[in-house]
Parts: sequence; structure tokens; C-alpha cells
Amino acid sequence: MKPAGFSYVRPGSLEEALAELADPDAKALAGGQSLIPAMNFRLAQPGRLVDLNGVSALAGISPTTEGGLRIGAMTRHRAVETSPLVAAGAPLLAEAMPFIAHLQIRNRGTIGGSLAHADPAAELPAVMLVLEATIELRRGTAVRLVPVAEFFTGLFATVLQPGELLTAVSVPPLPAGSGWAFEEMARRRGDYALVGVAAMVVLDQRRRCRSARVVLFSVGEGPVLAMSVAGVLTEQPVSAERIGSAAAAVQHDIDPPSDIHASAAYRRQLAQVLTGRALTRAFHRAETR
Ligand code: FAD
Repeated sequence: MKPAGFSYVRPGSLEEALAELADPDAKALAGGQSLIPAMNFRLAQPGRLVDLNGVSALAGISPTTEGGLRIGAMTRHRAVETSPLVAAGAPLLAEAMPFIAHLQIRNRGTIGGSLAHADPAAELPAVMLVLEATIELRRGTAVRLVPVAEFFTGLFATVLQPGELLTAVSVPPLPAGSGWAFEEMARRRGDYALVGVAAMVVLDQRRRCRSARVVLFSVGEGPVLAMSVAGVLTEQPVSAERIGSAAAAVQHDIDPPSDIHASAAYRRQLAQVLTGRALTRAFHRAETR
């Protein structure tokens, strides 16, 4: 298939890009790894593409004054994957990056594009929900900061308004006593996950679980924060039995679909197994760091 006709502009500054995006027919082009296939299938038919690849102000990773990280929307997946700042300050994110597609796609795809696209099988929305990231949006001169828990509203849907650009995502500092792990199952390396789990746990000084944030993806219309799993772990001593009970509790948190890739029952079983594995590794890291 070929895309429907469209016009194209490549602004050189953020202000210019925002002005172009005020056109209701315009759409932002980032890495193009999801948008261009969608246009080729005519699932998306924007009248005008605003190519963000000339807006250098949108790319880059920098430390925040609070001790976290700010990652510009046009930062490529591969730049996040290989960043020493990310490895030190957001190691869960670093661990998840190689699971996104293939190297060639990670060389082009961007963190902003992935979050704005809101694919329910994507890794980054789940990781950002675990990390309690904040998403920075801009329309004209108006800036708003949205907690990631409020950003995703459904299947491929977010709070992004027409003409609004995702400009950056910020992650808070890594809490003391924390451990993390990322697990996913895909049919082949580089495929979208059948089910995935991102986890961050924090131990208190008595080595009890102070908090556990576990997020599943590819089990519904968006990333799912597993509240029942957290309920089994919080304020409790950590043991293999407790991790097993917490993993079993994931069944209360998810309602996965059946599709051509996997049945709902298979996804449920995978979710429990992967949650157990992720928690085991996350607690081990928290205990040994
Ligand atoms: P684009 O395709 O350019 O844009 C996607 C959408 O986001 C468009 O609607 C666009 O208008 C909008 N957008 C882009 N940037 C912004 C912005 N700054 N503000 C507002 N809106 C914006 N992804 C995964 O997560 N996991 C995978 O396993 C995976 N496998 C893949 C396998 C293949 C074969 C392919 C082709 C892609 C795969 N992807 C996967 C998708 C890939 O990660 C994309 O890079 C990502 O989904 C979109 O990023 P992009 O920069 O290419 O965005």
C-alpha cells in the first residue's frame, strides 16, 4: 500500500513545529516507525506531516535538579539504551530498552513517539508507570505536566490534545533500598510481547517490603498497575512463598484478551509466571545492592 497524499514540513525549532501543529490536519512525525506503516495501510491519513527530526532541542538526556532524569521526546530508543545516565539513574528503563523491536528500529524510534502512540504491547508506557514519570506536553506557549498514571486513557489513546506536542518525560530519582526487574515473553526476539512485566520494589531497613510497583502490559488496553500484587507484599517480610502469593494475585489485576497471538488463559498463566520471576529478581537486587 502507498499512503494517501500529504504535504510535508521540517521545522528547525520547537516554536516553528508548534506553530505548524496548530493546523488541525497536521501530525507530528518522529521516528516514523509506527506512523509511516499506519499511513501506508491508510489507518492514518494526515494531510500534513510535521517532521520533528530537525528540532534538536527535543532530543537529549539530562539530570534534573531533583536528582532524576529528563529525556527529550526525540531521544532515540538506542540513545536511551546506551546512556550511562540512564544506566545509573533509571536502570529499569535501561534493562527494558533492548526488548523494544530490533536495533534498526531502535536507531530511529523515539521515546516521545512510543509514549504518544500508546501501544498496549509497548514496553515504555509500562516502565514509565512503574517509575512514576511525569510527561511534559506543550501547545503554543502553554506547558502542562501530566503524571504518567493520567496520561494513557485507553487503546492507542492519551490525554494529548490536537496541536499538542509531547516534549519530554522526567523520571524521579531511584529510591534508596530499591530493586527492579523487567520480564517479557515474545514469540521471537524483537516481536511485541505476548505479556510483559516491569517491577520496582523498595525494602525498608528491616528488609521488609516498603512498596512494590508492578505493571503489566499486553494484557489489556494499556499498562496495568497491579494493585493486588502490591497489596500482598507491602509492609510484609519477603520470602519465596510471599512472592508466589503475590504473583498469583496478579489474576485479580488483569483481564487479558484472546487474539491471534495468544489466548486469554495463556496470557493469564504467563502474567503469573513473569510476575513471579520479576519480583524474585527485583527483591534479590534490593537485598544485594
Ligand atoms: P512515529 O511513528 O513517528 O509516531 C507515532 C505516533 O506518535 C504518531 O501518531 C505521531 O504523530 C505521534 N508522535 C510522535 N512523536 C510525538 C510527540 N513528540 N508528541 C506528540 N505526538 C507524537 N515498539 C515497542 O514498544 N515494542 C516493540 O517490540 C516494537 N516492535 C516493533 C517492531 C516493528 C517491526 C516496528 C516497525 C515497530 C516496532 N515498535 C515497537 C514501535 C517502535 O518502538 C516505534 O518507534 C514507536 O512505537 C513509535 O516511535 P516513533 O518515534 O517511530 O514515532
